[in-house]
Amino acid sequence: MTSPFPHLLAPLDLGFTTLRNRVIMGSMHTGLEDRFYHYGKLAAFYRERARGGVGLIVTGGISPNREGWLLPFGGTMNFAGDVFNHRKVTRAVHEEGGKIVMQILHAGRYGYQPLVVSASTKKSPISPFKPRALSGRGIERTIAAYARCAALAQAAGYDGVEVMGSEGYLLNQFLCARTNTRTDAWGGGIEGRMRLAVDIVKRIRARVGPQFIIMYRHSLLDLVEGGNTWDEVVAVARALEAAGVTILNSGYGWHEARIPTIVTSVPRAAFASLAGRLRQQVGIPVVASNRINMPHDAEALLAGGDCDLVSMARPFLADADFVNKAAAGRADEINTCIGCNQACLDHTFANQRASCLVNPRACHETELVYAKAKQAKKVAVVGAGPAGLSAATVAAECGHDVTLFDSAASIGGQFKIAMQIPGKEEFAETLRYFGRKIATTGVKLVLGRRVTAAELQGFDHVIVATGIQVRMPAIAGIDHPKVLSYLDVLERHAPVGDKVAIIGAGGIGFDVGEYLLHDEDAVLPMPLEAWTREWGVDLSVSSPGGLTTPLPVTPRRKLWLLQRKTTRPGAGLGKTSGWVHRATLLRGGVTMLAGVQYDRIDDAGLHITVGGQAQLLDVDNVIICAGQDSLAELMPPEGTRGGPTFHKIGGAALAAELDAKRAIREGAELAARL
Ligand code: FAD
Ligand code: NAP
Ligand code: SF4
Repeated sequence: MTSPFPHLLAPLDLGFTTLRNRVIMGSMHTGLEDRFYHYGKLAAFYRERARGGVGLIVTGGISPNREGWLLPFGGTMNFAGDVFNHRKVTRAVHEEGGKIVMQILHAGRYGYQPLVVSASTKKSPISPFKPRALSGRGIERTIAAYARCAALAQAAGYDGVEVMGSEGYLLNQFLCARTNTRTDAWGGGIEGRMRLAVDIVKRIRARVGPQFIIMYRHSLLDLVEGGNTWDEVVAVARALEAAGVTILNSGYGWHEARIPTIVTSVPRAAFASLAGRLRQQVGIPVVASNRINMPHDAEALLAGGDCDLVSMARPFLADADFVNKAAAGRADEINTCIGCNQACLDHTFANQRASCLVNPRACHETELVYAKAKQAKKVAVVGAGPAGLSAATVAAECGHDVTLFDSAASIGGQFKIAMQIPGKEEFAETLRYFGRKIATTGVKLVLGRRVTAAELQGFDHVIVATGIQVRMPAIAGIDHPKVLSYLDVLERHAPVGDKVAIIGAGGIGFDVGEYLLHDEDAVLPMPLEAWTREWGVDLSVSSPGGLTTPLPVTPRRKLWLLQRKTTRPGAGLGKTSGWVHRATLLRGGVTMLAGVQYDRIDDAGLHITVGGQAQLLDVDNVIICAGQDSLAELMPPEGTRGGPTFHKIGGAALAAELDAKRAIREGAELAARL
């Protein structure tokens, strides 16, 4: 049989070792690497990915010393005793035929701890701690720490190390004039600024010998003022190659950059052309990364000569079996990462264990187990939104006889509505995945009619996943014809005028705002050229950091986004993606008002009071995005005896602070214990 992805699945001979395919699982901090007692769980996490066919795994960042900690007492490899925990990880991966390198990450001024150091004393805008500028002796000690760390990684059984040189961490801080203002031998022109990175690689190579992978994650596009130009990027890459690097990985954007690089609205493989350009300049394998989430995209990059390997990180939280499914011609069964960041990066930044919105087992492999049930039960799931889809497919995977009902004509619930929002097109992949999973697990799907309580009597278990109903606030004039709910706009496509007030500035209020800023005939998902224009990205990197003047599109409508709270609108959005939504609406000229009292709605518009001042918003429509209430009318009255056992999950159980992450997790957890 011919391979469905011949370039992706081709082995790569590195001279002293061979990778079984071109797929790298990129580094992710899971939160399990910081405590010795979590290494069993970490090993189980990596074991599943190695069993799933990944060619090369990169661990989360491990610091070479205390100064390099991202968080106090973060994972460190600086003495022989550290080796034992890591052996659990390397053994697990090797037993499954995989290879694994340990990432050495020195956070520099991004550390959330008081010991932070950098090239200079310039504080980062995203950490409260002012760094100390490393002295010449401090730099020598840092180089020695990297070499010691790599040697310990070798002793722990790793196949190599990845030196983290991008995303604005310590080595990036030395590489760029933005932070490197030194006048000694470690600063000045690019020769001096690159010296730390190059010396580290030389010292590691001398310590570990020739038969050990040294991958270097190089920043090809800094996306900050004072970043490097393309000529400087190439000069560094060539020097790193000469110093002994085996593979050049690519990184894009410092963490403090105000241009998104991985959220779902970034076009797929947006930066891969830069890896292609670099590949022409060096003789070692180059890796493409960022927003590559499906095998056909990865295959196209390899076939087109943009790279030798493809790194995907979050896609392996979403699906451990990604490579095996691709190899078996079952790419349509892949649970695709939708770039939401809700359970991975948002957790990491909140100092919680990472997981995945679409796969709650990620990083919980030993705790959430989909084992075959001892006794198959007859299970009805009512509602095919995220909660019901998750419950039905996991229950069927565990061997139960499952029927899934929904009154709509297709699966998806509110998620189907969400995927119409510009920049959320990836959400369609989740529904494609669940659609296939329903077919492969044998769930009986009944669509197009509301279920009655009588129909549910013959089941052992009934899972009520009927979601929510829109909350209409008690404002005078709420029945006025100019008032619409978000469902009227997004589901029923009611006509909307040119001037609009949105009541409620939660996730849905922001999404409705983005939807209404766009022309109805806008090309979505946004093509790459339009996206780079809108955000001011210069992919030629002729300007430092690859920044240019943003040219936003003219907004389709004038919008007001309102809330009663006095906090900043959008403060409750995701930590790593909320700023993108806020920036998009502000660029679109949206007026955001907090501390609003809604007085009445009439022919003139929406009457409000803000800070004691009465105002009239002369709008054509008022759109209600004021939260939701649970819909669980199928639940039997308390105290009912006999009949099926009833359960509630997702919005049906609790509408407050509901999102798809909770809905999918609750569905999976319930189904796994039926
Ligand atoms: P629902 O998705 O509401 O599904 C309930 C299902 O039950 C529906 O399909 C309904 O037809 C069916 N049903 C109801 N009653 C019956 C009955 N009697 N018989 C048969 N079927 C019935 N969440 C995120 O995590 N991230 C996001 O970025 C995000 N963006 C969003 C953007 C928008 C515009 C919207 C509207 C929502 C967004 N959400 C997002 C929220 C997310 O979609 C919901 O939290 C999630 O869908 C809730 O899942 P659920 O299964 O509990 O309910
Ligand atoms: P939400 O986030 O709870 O926001 C509801 C908004 O309505 C708030 O701004 C609230 O602000 C306002 N509100 C509440 N009661 C009101 C009332 N009686 N009168 C007037 N205003 C009222 O809920 P949502 O926007 O409906 O979103 C639902 C869920 O979907 C959320 O939990 C969210 O996590 C999820 N979601 C997530 C994303 C994402 O990008 N991650 C996107 C969309 C949705 P005030 O009380 O201050 O007025
Ligand atoms: Fe991808 Fe969202 Fe899962 Fe993170 S939580 S891995 S972004 S789908």
